[in-house]
Amino acid sequence: MQSDLAKLLELQRIDTEVARLKQEISALPKRVVEIETKLAGNLAAVEKAKAAAKENDQKRRKYEGEIQTLQQKISKYRDQMLAVKTNDEYRALGNEIKFAEDAIRGYEDKILECMVQSEDLDTNIKAAEKSLTIEKAAVEKEKNEARSRTAEHEKALSELLPSRSELRTSIGDQILRHYDRVLKQRGSAVSEVRDQICQACHVMLRPQVFQEVLAGKSVLTCDSCGRILYYDPPRDVEAENAPYLNPKLPDVPPREAASEASPDAENMSQAAAADDAAH
Ligand SMILES: [Zn+2]
Repeated sequence: MQSDLAKLLELQRIDTEVARLKQEISALPKRVVEIETKLAGNLAAVEKAKAAAKENDQKRRKYEGEIQTLQQKISKYRDQMLAVKTNDEYRALGNEIKFAEDAIRGYEDKILECMVQSEDLDTNIKAAEKSLTIEKAAVEKEKNEARSRTAEHEKALSELLPSRSELRTSIGDQILRHYDRVLKQRGSAVSEVRDQICQACHVMLRPQVFQEVLAGKSVLTCDSCGRILYYDPPRDVEAENAPYLNPKLPDVPPREAASEASPDAENMSQAAAADDAAH
């Protein structure tokens, strides 16, 4: 039974890692969209700058068209001048010509303004396009990094799943079913007991249950949350000089055990190994 407990702890470690990896992998598409939306502002800035330049260009062509029309009118007035009979008619045509020439000068001024603006607008387009290029490269880099991280996660997952299956086949059916059920409901299925308290749900164990957990001879579950309970002696020795020092684990310095990536699983494995050796 002790050995089952060690395996369940290891299984929980693997399941936690599998869940984390799956979560990371499934987050990739959303992350890519997030990264790409960074470009939206830059793209909009380029579009806006181009639209402004186009509008300026259209205005300029419109003024040029007006000038052309006025010049045709002037030329027509000059032809009419040759045919008029009275001074009044002649003066009236002269006024029309002067009026048209004034209007042409007005349009020429506006065209000049457009030309000056056009230079600024071209500068704006170039600046916006440059920012877009820089941002595009940054976004591409970030997307590649996200994709390669995902590839690493997928690789780690593919390596983890076979050991998970193998581990599961070596655990008793009944306790495995209980483990699966609690894991599904609560996100974790194995909990450490410290100071007679289940560290997952923080409810105090009945003294009898606690004593049995300390004895480590059978797999016990928390009355409150249903998690499978384990006791980790070395950590308690360091924390409070507890009287439950397991004599089978004298050569594991608590500090070293606590600094392991998975001290709990490690200690239980050792406890189980020691147990097995003793029988
Ligand atoms: Zn509990």
